[in-house]
Amino acid sequence: MERISHWIDGTVVPSTSGRSAAVYNPATGQQSGAVDLASVDEVDTAVAAAKAAFPAWRATSLSKRAEILFRMRELVDANRKEIAALLTAEHGKVLSDSMGEVARGLENIEFACGVPQLMKGDYSEQAATGIDVYSIRQPLGVVAGITPFNFPAMVPMWMFANALACGNTFVLKPSEKDPSVTMLIAELLSKAGLPDGCFNIVQGDKVAVDRILRHDDIAAVSFVGSTPIAKYIYETGTAQGKRVQALGGAKNHMLVLNDADVGMAADAAIGAAYGSAGERCMAISVILAAEGIADELVAEIANRIPSVTMGAGDVDGNDMGPLITAESRDRVKGYIDGAPGEGATVVVDGRDDLPADGFFVRPTLLDNVSTEMSCYTDEIFGPVLSVVRVAGYQDGLDIINANPFANGTAIFTRDGGAARQFQFDVEVGMVGVNVPVPVPVSYYSFGGWKASLFGDTHMYGPEGINFYTRGKVVTSRWPDPASSSIDLGFPETR
Ligand code: NAD
Repeated sequence: MERISHWIDGTVVPSTSGRSAAVYNPATGQQSGAVDLASVDEVDTAVAAAKAAFPAWRATSLSKRAEILFRMRELVDANRKEIAALLTAEHGKVLSDSMGEVARGLENIEFACGVPQLMKGDYSEQAATGIDVYSIRQPLGVVAGITPFNFPAMVPMWMFANALACGNTFVLKPSEKDPSVTMLIAELLSKAGLPDGCFNIVQGDKVAVDRILRHDDIAAVSFVGSTPIAKYIYETGTAQGKRVQALGGAKNHMLVLNDADVGMAADAAIGAAYGSAGERCMAISVILAAEGIADELVAEIANRIPSVTMGAGDVDGNDMGPLITAESRDRVKGYIDGAPGEGATVVVDGRDDLPADGFFVRPTLLDNVSTEMSCYTDEIFGPVLSVVRVAGYQDGLDIINANPFANGTAIFTRDGGAARQFQFDVEVGMVGVNVPVPVPVSYYSFGGWKASLFGDTHMYGPEGINFYTRGKVVTSRWPDPASSSIDLGFPETR
């Protein structure tokens, strides 16, 4: 059985904590490995390695840092299939979806390759006579990332690529449910030439997280996960004086107006609700269907559901894999069990005809859902799509803006004016116009509003660079040069 350990100071370090957690193949329900759970001392060892590596890494030229990231880009590109296979084995998502995750993660490494441009400051000559003023951005020191199970490769890439590019050193605490892929990423970073100690992994649970939040040598924490934990991370980390960005859960609505192309909206809903078995923070979990098209839309979605093939993620042709754990499966089934009692109609029942093994639930469609039902109020994080029927634009908008979550949303319409008004009115961080899963590209930043984000900074892109650096402004006056020398060599950068 596979044992997954820590990665500290450039090498695999088996834990001596005596604690571990089971890792499963969700498609079979069988345990495939055991992941070490770090002790406080082991977190301290990783942080000490990162702290020791920081001065030299910070002093490494921008060109050299970019060169290492370019090499990492090539290595991730060359190893896409291996990364995706590891990801599918422990997460369960189908291989094509895992390949998509790696591709979107890779975009963040590509963005970070531009660090010489991204770290540029401003310069004002002659702010006063003979005096110039300029701004520079400098790294924070040791920074930590705490990541969720649902994107075990991409979400770490959202964080470490920019953090390292800016000159910080990094300690990652991956999800204990699918930890293996991060160990391959650590190996690739090492192969790319990243000095030992710059990137470390502590496998673990709350013990490791709590130590990270209280460790004096950690300057900043990036977190992605569920809302209650995000709130806890933000409150605890900031109380310790750390910079924290903590992205939480979601309940994403797709508002379909009467003038929408119903076939296109139904296709989009299927992909956005059931892709990755609904275990995406940008999944659509609620359709707000305008009354003129609601019957047709529900019928079109229901007609498409039988064509979604469910099964093991590593079998060609499957569209949707299992959920992450048996508890997840049972929780999701519980929402379907309870829906009729609350007044919803189960149009397609994902509890039917399930395989004997594995953590599967089939695509489920609930109609006539209202906003006080638990299938509406809770983040189900499974392949359950709820339809709430609305009178029209304003009714739909009001429901979205009243929801405490505000990660992503989408409007489906042919009316450009309505779409523009929606973009103006809606209180949500990421908005799609006829695009159901509007995950921003790596040169914008990712993040929700309200209970979907604690902190001021969104993740990756320009806001990621801001998060991982702090500004300094220099006001400078120089005497005339007292000495100079001649050098005919071509100026080099490293
Ligand atoms: P989670 O909150 O259970 O776990 C996230 C991380 O926190 C893991 O590393 C876990 O080990 C740690 N953790 C769990 N319980 C803890 C505790 N009590 N104290 C300290 N640390 C703890 O989330 P998950 O189930 O792994 O991931 C799914 C959730 O993440 C969903 O709510 C989803 O919406 C959210 N998510 C959000 C985004 C986003 O960008 N907003 C992206 C991906 C996932």
